[in-house]
Amino acid sequence: MTYHPEHCTLCPRRCGADRTKRVGFCKSGERMKVARAALHFYEEPCISGKEGSGTVFFSGCSLGCVFCQNREISRGDIGKEITGEDLVRIALSLKEQGANNLNLVTPDHYAQEIRSALLPLKDSLGMPIAVNTSSYLSPEQLSYFEGLAHIYIADFKFFSSETAKNYASAPDYPRVCLNAITEMVRQKGKPVYDGRGMMQSGVIVRHLVLPGARKESIALLQELSRRFAPDHIVLSLMSQYTPPAGMTGHLSRRVTTFEYKSVMDVAESLGFSGYFQDRSSASDSYLPDFDLTGV
Ligand code: SF4
Repeated sequence: MTYHPEHCTLCPRRCGADRTKRVGFCKSGERMKVARAALHFYEEPCISGKEGSGTVFFSGCSLGCVFCQNREISRGDIGKEITGEDLVRIALSLKEQGANNLNLVTPDHYAQEIRSALLPLKDSLGMPIAVNTSSYLSPEQLSYFEGLAHIYIADFKFFSSETAKNYASAPDYPRVCLNAITEMVRQKGKPVYDGRGMMQSGVIVRHLVLPGARKESIALLQELSRRFAPDHIVLSLMSQYTPPAGMTGHLSRRVTTFEYKSVMDVAESLGFSGYFQDRSSASDSYLPDFDLTGV
């Protein structure tokens, strides 16, 4: 583990920013920044349950998709700087509120600080820790999460290098993401649930079907099926793409029923189990207010 904030090459961007003086591509400086820490009820049922998931939304993102649904925090300045002690306090407060898990949302660029803060707490926290990531992760970042994360909630956003380049300036994303998910499955193995059906350990792979990219989604699922036994990952196939203002072309509309259903049919035929979304869920209702609640 060789993270140096003075010349950060932590994530696959390897932008080399001196995070003690300025923010990097991920818009993050040296200190962790959090925009919200509260119970959240819109994750997969095995994560949210009735009681809610204890989500901590970190500011900044090293992927930076043009259509980001959380752009207020991924690109903007919303968020409060916190210390490791603050993160421990936040985790304990969420546990106190009845959270089913500690759900670290976009923690990628703070992997080292999060490990230092939470590893001593892990065994006494009394709930699993979930790393909820874009999967644009280097082996080094995954090494910081190894032994800390009980659960990975891993996006798999693009299968084509060209799409990843056009939508996130990251042509290497498909390769990096597949390597990252392979490592997550190696670390966690098959999913484990408690008696209430709440996930205690495992890997959830999330894929948001994008408008105009049905065939790419199908190719992505076929590659997942080639690489992983269907019982080693839980698939969460999402339809909730909501066009942000200013989008053009395919990205200016929602996914059609035909697009989503044809991808879902392939997922089922490949033997994946998991979560499939009703298209009526395509709305902003999943997005919480990033108002520093709980920070
Ligand atoms: S984590 Fe941020 S600062 Fe570090 S290499 Fe990636 S984008 Fe640059």
